[in-house]
Amino acid sequence: GAPVSNVAGIGNGAKNGVLIKGGEVMNTFANVDTLVFDKTGTLTEGKTAVTQFKDYSRDQLALQIATAVEKQSDHPLAQAVVKFSGDHHIPFEDVQVADADTVKGRGVKATANGKNVLIGNLRMMNDENVDLTSEQRQDLENIQGEGSSTVIVAFDGQIQAILGISDVIRQGVKQSLATLKSLGIKKTVMLTGDNLQTANAVAEQIGIDEVHAELLPEQKVEYVKQFQQEGHKVAFVGDGINDSPSLVTADIGIAMGSGTDVAVETSDVVLMSSGFNELIHAYGLSKKTVINTK
Ligand code: ADP
Ligand code: MG
Repeated sequence: GAPVSNVAGIGNGAKNGVLIKGGEVMNTFANVDTLVFDKTGTLTEGKTAVTQFKDYSRDQLALQIATAVEKQSDHPLAQAVVKFSGDHHIPFEDVQVADADTVKGRGVKATANGKNVLIGNLRMMNDENVDLTSEQRQDLENIQGEGSSTVIVAFDGQIQAILGISDVIRQGVKQSLATLKSLGIKKTVMLTGDNLQTANAVAEQIGIDEVHAELLPEQKVEYVKQFQQEGHKVAFVGDGINDSPSLVTADIGIAMGSGTDVAVETSDVVLMSSGFNELIHAYGLSKKTVINTK
């Protein structure tokens, strides 16, 4: 059984909005020196919104088609596109969508109104040999440089539109990371499926030590394993279905309470109201709890 003081620690945590699954968790947590974060929905609130819309065809067809296709996806970027069209009363009900397929780490491929439609990132466009004009390339870099994510829409072999999608960095993240360092964390890392430019812009605002972008879920796991092989004790903080392999692999998996059921189920620690104050509390508590048991 868990030491008594450990149980007390757990009770104390639950009162402060942290769910800790089992006594051993606190002992392990106390030894964690590397904190690895997912970006979207973890360091950010995941409240995505379209803030830029570059329409190169200027007939709104790109937006109509993109919306009809994204309606079938539950990706945070897709949700922003659908909301944007709803807010602007863009009609998309008449678009005929067939065969919408997710392309891992890239976006969605579909047939809509008989056209071969690509909706995704630059990697997807490169894979499919769809070139950007220098104007489009500049637009993409400007949007990503501000820390927004981008969605590129292409059909008829051409880029039709680029959407800039912003998210809100969780309040107080910068200060929280600094506090965690003062409590014993040696290294903070961001792992994300998003593009490097956007990831770097966010990282700069919050002062995180290391950034790895454009990753597939299995590549996130590889980083977690690499840090462990280097002798670090690793906690991974995430919210998505994508994150659950990393949550399981890390020494401590920490899920945002607002995250998907799978993330919550596969974690050791749940931050009930998704605040980083809870993370600080739990880590601080683990240090005290472990000292108490000695
Ligand atoms: P993440 O959730 O970290 O963004 P994913 O593997 O789900 O990781 O996606 C990787 C990238 O693929 C996204 O950052 C985005 O550029 C692109 N992508 C994925 N799904 C969509 C979608 N439905 N619409 C547009 N782009 C998408
Ligand atoms: Mg996420």
